[in-house]
Amino acid sequence: MTVVGCGTVVPEPDRACSSYYVEHGSTRALLDCGAGAVQAMARLGISWSRLSHLFLTHFHSDHVGALPGLFFALRHGVHPPRTADPLEVWGPPGTRALFRGLAAALGDFLLDPGFPLTIRELAPGAEVIAGDLVVRSRDVPHTPESIALRIESASGGSALAYTGDTGPDETLADFFRGVDLLVGECSLPDDLVGDNHLSPSSLARLAHRSGARRLIATHIYPQFRQHTDVAGLISAAGYTGPVALAKEGLTVDLMPAAGS
Ligand SMILES: [Zn+2]
Ligand SMILES: [Zn+2]
Repeated sequence: MTVVGCGTVVPEPDRACSSYYVEHGSTRALLDCGAGAVQAMARLGISWSRLSHLFLTHFHSDHVGALPGLFFALRHGVHPPRTADPLEVWGPPGTRALFRGLAAALGDFLLDPGFPLTIRELAPGAEVIAGDLVVRSRDVPHTPESIALRIESASGGSALAYTGDTGPDETLADFFRGVDLLVGECSLPDDLVGDNHLSPSSLARLAHRSGARRLIATHIYPQFRQHTDVAGLISAAGYTGPVALAKEGLTVDLMPAAGS
């Protein structure tokens, strides 16, 4: 798993908006595709033109804003053109309507990129096989369509959880139970957060209760991260595992080679 973008709605010079790359076996998946994600993948040397799966958590532009740029690049910016490799898009209810709307406004390349494209919607509680990955979703309190994702190897082994954007939800820890890595949003400090985002205390509680082995805190608003030891606050709030702050290019190997 590589952090492509970990930013929020606030533009910043050093990070794109939310986007995470997961590679396992022959599966090359992107979780969310926020503004700036395509350029960030290019900077990181990630083969954006060879993505096999795209998962969306909700329709805020800091999570889907780069879709037009990605699909325009896939249609016109790949040489030789991509014609055979299929791309599966999975998102919450409303994802098909999102693509239809984007295509109506911007062009057919969003529905007909020149290679096989399928756009599917994850019903609440869905479990799907996506290439070499098993992906589960559940709804979270953020926007009406928002979902969190739990991703595991189809051959067994490590599990990755991604909150997307969410407010506190006491049952979310059960969904994330025992994951090896939790990528959790930590938008704002405890005294400023509303009920549709997480703070150090609520993220620490989620990570602790789920038993996540390690945590990457992400989606931290710039005015918060620039003046605060966010990782320290999370640890002080009761999560005892290792905490890292997301940054562009941070990579975690969830299935290291045997013996390493
Ligand atoms: Zn967001
Ligand atoms: Zn959001």
